[in-house]
Amino acid sequence: MSVAEQLKQVQDRIPAHVTLVAVSKTHPVEHILKAYEAGQRNFGENKVQELTAKASAMPGDVRWHLIGHLQSNKVKYIAQLVHMIHSVDSLKLLKEINKRASGAERVIDCLLQVHIAEEDTKFGLDEGEVELLLANPVFWEMNNIRIKGLMGMATFTEDQSQVKREFASLKALYERLKLKFEADERWQPEVLSMGMSGDFELAIEEGSNMVRVGSSIFGARDYA
Ligand SMILES: *Cc1c(COP(=O)(O)O)cnc(C)c1O
Repeated sequence: MSVAEQLKQVQDRIPAHVTLVAVSKTHPVEHILKAYEAGQRNFGENKVQELTAKASAMPGDVRWHLIGHLQSNKVKYIAQLVHMIHSVDSLKLLKEINKRASGAERVIDCLLQVHIAEEDTKFGLDEGEVELLLANPVFWEMNNIRIKGLMGMATFTEDQSQVKREFASLKALYERLKLKFEADERWQPEVLSMGMSGDFELAIEEGSNMVRVGSSIFGARDYA
């Protein structure tokens, strides 16, 4: 099947209130363009260098999502062009994003990445750390970032009940934070980014409104 056909199949499984981020990491621009020509505008990359290279080769109205771990010293390369950063996992990183966004005279939308999976290899804040970050006065003084919600990745397992439980726990945290911290310019909780090729339907059932889908659209990744 072509990229356009696979994209269509994924779109058909996603309700209208859910944003599809097409995860194009490792795939060449010619394939990404096929999805673009079929109407897709939100694309996700997990590496800064790959994102910037593809952004310069793709049309200017693509909304680029950085979904992978971000080092503070690389924020400057994406400050002008990134649409949303899904992987904020420290106040230090947020400060750097704020500084570089200020230099670029813009506000950058961010998600806090929360560690919900059993594996300890995945990045992210735990629930207590998320609350501490949002309660920190330093955060409320930043003028060039906007926290739009949370992102999480479930454990890679066949056990659907575990995946469901992890998504449900992220949704519950999201709802708790919405009650606890009043929305303002910096905190506008509207996005719950959870769900990938293997689990996005379950994620949507559990309250996701942004899914990050790669291999179901572009095929298997070749890291060779
Ligand atoms: C690669 C990646 C995805 C997409 O994974 P697929 O299983 O190919 O859909 C989603 N989110 C993050 C953070 C990723 O790194």
